[in-house]
Amino acid sequence: MKRKWHVVLVIVLLALITGSVGAFELPEGFVYVTDVIPTVRLDIRYYTGYNFVGTRITGYEAPVAILTREAAEALKTAAEILDEQGYYIKIFDAYRPLRAVEHFVLWGQDLEDQKMKDQFYPEVDKSQLFDLGYIALRSGHSRGSVVDLTLVYKDTLEEVDMGSPFDFFGPISHHGTDLITPEQEANRNILRDAMVAAGFEPYPEEWWHYRLKDEPYPNQYFDFPVDSPEYQSWRGVLDEALAQSVARARQTMNENIGGPFGAAIFDQEGNIIVVASNSVLRDHDPTAHAEVNAIREAGRLLGTHDLSGYILYATGYPCPMCLAATIWANITHVIYGARPEDAEAIGFRDDFIYRFIEGGRVDSSILLIEEYGREECVQLFQEYAEKQKQIY
Ligand SMILES: [Zn+2]
Repeated sequence: MKRKWHVVLVIVLLALITGSVGAFELPEGFVYVTDVIPTVRLDIRYYTGYNFVGTRITGYEAPVAILTREAAEALKTAAEILDEQGYYIKIFDAYRPLRAVEHFVLWGQDLEDQKMKDQFYPEVDKSQLFDLGYIALRSGHSRGSVVDLTLVYKDTLEEVDMGSPFDFFGPISHHGTDLITPEQEANRNILRDAMVAAGFEPYPEEWWHYRLKDEPYPNQYFDFPVDSPEYQSWRGVLDEALAQSVARARQTMNENIGGPFGAAIFDQEGNIIVVASNSVLRDHDPTAHAEVNAIREAGRLLGTHDLSGYILYATGYPCPMCLAATIWANITHVIYGARPEDAEAIGFRDDFIYRFIEGGRVDSSILLIEEYGREECVQLFQEYAEKQKQIY
């Protein structure tokens, strides 16, 4: 117990240090959109791996949306118009540093890398993406007054159907295309009308892309990273969780206790609650994965099966069992190190199990699943329901 408090102290100190020395600051004239429009939803795709490149883009250090103050204020006007009609806005990208555009260009030159072709440019030859204008050598986004966005319904937060996804390179994404339904066109027009009324100009080739007409820096391109002080100190927390998980995994791996997998569970303030590692070999327990061990230990320590609000770090992308255990524990945020294919490359079967599940769990040569005794078992369920016992 004493050691745990030491750990907490170190984390707090780390957070204080990273928060005070060289803290990230926005340049004069720029703001975080969430500070101006509290209802805005963010899905910053270039921070995630789900974009046309298939990996996080250089310069995206935090999933935040940054704009010039003028652009954010105008966007607020659009958001208010849309709010009255039952929509929130959802931003995919806003200010984009020059170094991110350079990443796009380098990717564009590597014609071998077509990992995301099916999702984002199935009908366009990759060698044509620049010539056809889908990617530019310089982006208006780097001037800070351009935003990529869509609408979500206020009640369900579900995306409105615009006929094609964000960053889909093809004529179906153009304004005025006849490849979409009248309803989808009407949806695009709801967004366009509000944006135009607020002072933005649409881009004919991309229904999601808008530029502030009176942009404050019409000729200036910026290169500061997309980042925030909160995420900067958050990365200090992640570095600590990573270091402790790897150290624990390495130790138990060398002692032949289990595979090279570690995990940590920590709270929103960055206090590490537990660090665990894989102990399948020592415990003769095929379920003793690092994440399951961490969840079990955290539950015992905190005296609850409900780990709502806690965050899981795992050195490898959790296997289906661990992902399910995480959801059972009500953990809603997972951060991982290595990918399933990395585990498969050294002989572990994570990817094999994922393929079986994604294939509909129908291959009986892998697992024969039969139904038997339903009546008796449903009777048992009924008894539980009638006793109004706790559902978790
Ligand atoms: Zn697992």
